[in-house]
Amino acid sequence: MVDVWPILAVGVIISSLIYPLVRISSASLSISIGLFVIFLFEMIDSRLINELAFSPLDLRDIGSSYTIFTSMFLHGGFGHIVFNVFILVLIGNLLEERIGSPKFLAIYIISGIGGGLVYALVNLGDNVGVIGASGAISGILGAIAILYPNQPFMLLFLSFRNIPAWVMVLIFLAMQMFIALSQTNIAWEAHIGGLATGILIAPLLMRISIEERVDRGEKIDVMVFAKTPKEREIAAQIKPESIRDVRNAWIDQLAETAKCPICGQKVRNYRGRIKCRNGHKFNI
Ligand SMILES: [Zn+2]
Repeated sequence: MVDVWPILAVGVIISSLIYPLVRISSASLSISIGLFVIFLFEMIDSRLINELAFSPLDLRDIGSSYTIFTSMFLHGGFGHIVFNVFILVLIGNLLEERIGSPKFLAIYIISGIGGGLVYALVNLGDNVGVIGASGAISGILGAIAILYPNQPFMLLFLSFRNIPAWVMVLIFLAMQMFIALSQTNIAWEAHIGGLATGILIAPLLMRISIEERVDRGEKIDVMVFAKTPKEREIAAQIKPESIRDVRNAWIDQLAETAKCPICGQKVRNYRGRIKCRNGHKFNI
């Protein structure tokens, strides 16, 4: 008889990823629900883990390499899943609200796969299975740190203090070092790999989407030019300014230091718009 649970689990995985794209709802929430449903399946039939967990040896065989994807929806225990869902809903949602569900999903999935690949590289030829959303979630953390380094976080276990995203990543890395040295069965390689993937691909995704909107002549938030606190201050002045000469003066000032978010070239004020040396024109 064909084992029904892996098929049902894959159905839940795909639904939880597609639903937020079709109904425009929160992907962090729908993935969280999917994770719990699959965890329930695992409790009903523990063989599900054997079928869908990822081991480095799986990459040698195309037919079983799908596990690098499915493994990120399984969890090894109640604490493991609660911790991951907790971070996904509290922190993931912050990022998703800013960049939208499609880009959030892309970062989540690619980081999960990146984490699996790094795990496989470090443990080449190993047959030990790995499961969990931690690599994908580490990627979300990396994406926030690179896109919004000063985004404050309130961590419950650090109580009452808001810490910026980049500090959180340092704390995260220190935790991974500690895990690696204490030789637990936690796949710290997947966490580091996921984090690095998120840091690498998030800016790339944002650049691609800005480029598409520039090509279509859509209005672009002037904040994409503001990288330093000073530039943010100036950009915030441009946004609500309705007197044309004053607005132009602010744009001139921003253009002195700002760089094109697509190609990195210098920019200038072009009749109330911002234009770079390579001809990217931004309707702000
Ligand atoms: Zn440019």
